[in-house]
Amino acid sequence: MRRIGIMGGTFNPVHVGHLMLAEWVRDALKLDEVWFIPTGSSYMKDSRDILPGRERLHMVELAIQDNPFFRCLDLEIVREGRTYSYETLEQLRAGYPEDMFYFITGADCLFAIDSWKNPERIFSNCTLAAAGRGDVSLEEMGGKKRELEQKFQMREEIQVIPFLSLSVSSTLIRRRILQGQSIRYLVPDRVISYIEEKGFYREKNDVKEDQKSS
Ligand code: NAP
Repeated sequence: MRRIGIMGGTFNPVHVGHLMLAEWVRDALKLDEVWFIPTGSSYMKDSRDILPGRERLHMVELAIQDNPFFRCLDLEIVREGRTYSYETLEQLRAGYPEDMFYFITGADCLFAIDSWKNPERIFSNCTLAAAGRGDVSLEEMGGKKRELEQKFQMREEIQVIPFLSLSVSSTLIRRRILQGQSIRYLVPDRVISYIEEKGFYREKNDVKEDQKSS
């Protein structure tokens, strides 16, 4: 039985915050691997402002190349229709019945997850691993953890993991590119080269704020 971290994200584009979060939780929970899963079409975000799934997937592949514990899966971007995490986790559970899954998120997702579609079907197929990054206190996260554990009668405790406070976000990266500013060290070099080669995020439309800054 393997312990697998699931790092879902829009990754528009992937940045050091995502990579450090995945590595931090892998280490904290002694995970065997972390699988990055770029989102397909989200009902919560306007798809006109998000690069096509194949491009975001490719940037993640470039970003994780050097880490033997990281993999990237295309299962959400090849799926028709909207992206729902409960479907992804059920698909993973069916494909890998022996493994344990840890859904890695930041604090925002911990507070939003009970408003997602079929949260009980998320919790029945994984353990949530939520990282605190300073903007919400660990006490507040602990309160939400207990509320969710009671509401969904979880067998496995939600893991609240203290993380670093890094204010890097995909919105920040896109804005800096638009303004001609450097993104060096915020995004892996290979990803920067690909962004430059393709001319991504140079148009104002590509830089609209996410509904939540991510
Ligand atoms: P994202 O913006 O690309 O971020 C991916 C993850 O990285 C999030 O958990 C985010 O934490 C975390 N993160 C980003 N920057 C960080 C930093 N500087 N430091 C620490 N953590 C950082 O992806 P997203 O759009 O939030 O989506 C996350 C996952 O939630 C995806 O798998 C998506 O499919 C899923 N989702 C599902 C539903 C649904 O099923 N109905 C609805 C919404 C989202 P935060 O949580 O703090 O943002």
